[in-house]
Formats: sequence, C-alpha cells, structure tokens
Amino acid sequence: MGKCELCGNEGSRMEADHKELGRIMICQTCWSKLYEKNSMAADVGCSGGSCPFCK
Ligand SMILES: [Zn+2]
Repeated sequence: MGKCELCGNEGSRMEADHKELGRIMICQTCWSKLYEKNSMAADVGCSGGSCPFCK
C-alpha cells in the first residue's frame, strides 16, 4: 500500500515503466490511462498489433 506517484491516491499500486518518469508506482486508474495514451516504455504493452516496432 502507498500513494500513487501520479495522482496521490492511496491504495494498491502497480509498477509501470513510464517513458519520461521511468519506473513508478501508480494506481490502476493511472496505469490504465498511461496504457491508453501509450506513455509506457516500449517494452510494455507491445503485444498489440498497433505497435509499429513489433510488426
Ligand atoms: Zn493514480
């Protein structure tokens, strides 16, 4: 348990590799937002067909 490093909400957090911030611990809501915005580092979330580097 701890605080989300993005929004400050307390609760369970997940580790994320942010493109600019590096490895951060954030809540699931922020994690989903980062994922949707494609703000994760390249080695995360690259399993979809939308990544130009993975084709
Ligand atoms: Zn958050």
